[in-house]
Amino acid sequence: MTLRPALLALLLALCCAHARAAVFVIGLDGTDPALAGELAAAGRLPNLAALMRDGVTGRLDTLSPLPLSSPSIWTSVATGAGEGKHGITGFVKSDGGWFRSGDRRAPALWGMASARGKSAAVAGWLLTYPAEPVNGVMVSNNYFMAVGTHSAVYPPALKLRTPRAFAFESGAAPALAARLAGMPLPALFPFMPPLGDYASPDFRAHYLLEKLGDYALADEGFARVAEELLERGAYDLFLAYLPGTDRVSHLAWGAYEAGKKGAVPFSGLVPAYYAYTDALLGRLLAKAGKDDTVIVLSDHGFKLREKAGPLTVVSGDHRPGGLFVAKGPELKKGARLAGPILDRDVAPTVLYLLGLPAARTMDGKLAEGIFRDGVLKARPQEYLDAYPAAAPRGNESLPFTPQELERLRLSGYLQ
Ligand SMILES: [Zn+2]
Repeated sequence: MTLRPALLALLLALCCAHARAAVFVIGLDGTDPALAGELAAAGRLPNLAALMRDGVTGRLDTLSPLPLSSPSIWTSVATGAGEGKHGITGFVKSDGGWFRSGDRRAPALWGMASARGKSAAVAGWLLTYPAEPVNGVMVSNNYFMAVGTHSAVYPPALKLRTPRAFAFESGAAPALAARLAGMPLPALFPFMPPLGDYASPDFRAHYLLEKLGDYALADEGFARVAEELLERGAYDLFLAYLPGTDRVSHLAWGAYEAGKKGAVPFSGLVPAYYAYTDALLGRLLAKAGKDDTVIVLSDHGFKLREKAGPLTVVSGDHRPGGLFVAKGPELKKGARLAGPILDRDVAPTVLYLLGLPAARTMDGKLAEGIFRDGVLKARPQEYLDAYPAAAPRGNESLPFTPQELERLRLSGYLQ
């Protein structure tokens, strides 16, 4: 007789663990909505174009203070809280230390979903190091950097097919850079050490290509990690984040802008990188079921940096307004939103899509405009007072690599 409750529990788990379809949230840092729209319309971003055709497209805005800070905005996306509440202002704290996941003062989607019995998988989301306990798996954004520690993943014993030294071991960076730059590999040789002369006018081109290979390989690495997580388990909530579009735009936006007026080396690089990212997006979306909801978004767009020329080392700068595209059975189809969605509105909206209540402590609200008529009336949003605070985490102080320090300087986050 004692078997019967256990059997019942098993049957319930089998039938109801995925009563609602999954929600995918994919962050593409710095993807400019105007350029993405243009390239999608021209057939160069087939996966994004399909989402736009079958879903709802809008613009993502933030109320975080300027200058636009990716860690602040992505943390608002994940928490439903403004910067004043979640406390993540950038990469670097006022005392000079690095922000860590334990510094976040508001619970994030993966924690909220876990607290309500939903499962979550997180791949590379910004400021998730040290990795946090979740009802599922988390691979922190430091996975490929923090080689000496176990806390880049949760559970700590998680072993992935893509090794943490992937970027160093694969040796694929020059070939990737050549493909994205539209140049045959031998043509790149003058730009590559040891033949490249750092004092020559080719220095910037060399530098750009070297970085390009690194960035493209990092995105490839996180795409592989995300694919593997999705192959190994089914999750109610899946979040992935790819930083490459932002990094490449910082380096090559000047060439892209100059290319509108005439032939300039590397003017096609930013669009080529968007197409590369779209292909990675397609690989992740191939793992989504037809009833799953997909949200693809970016934290801000891009513009020419003041006084920058086509090959200034840092020629692109953040501009307000990110991408927001969402597709799902409860969402409008082929629609364009008149007004913006705020970064802090994403978390309560994702909770609703998961069938979970929003918290009254959140600054954001449900993005009502994306839903089909009648959906919200049939199933109104529910609220609870607050989600439990995240479990205390070690604030492991891992030094950043020289490469990362350099990237922070290039992006204007460090002087
Ligand atoms: Zn940036």
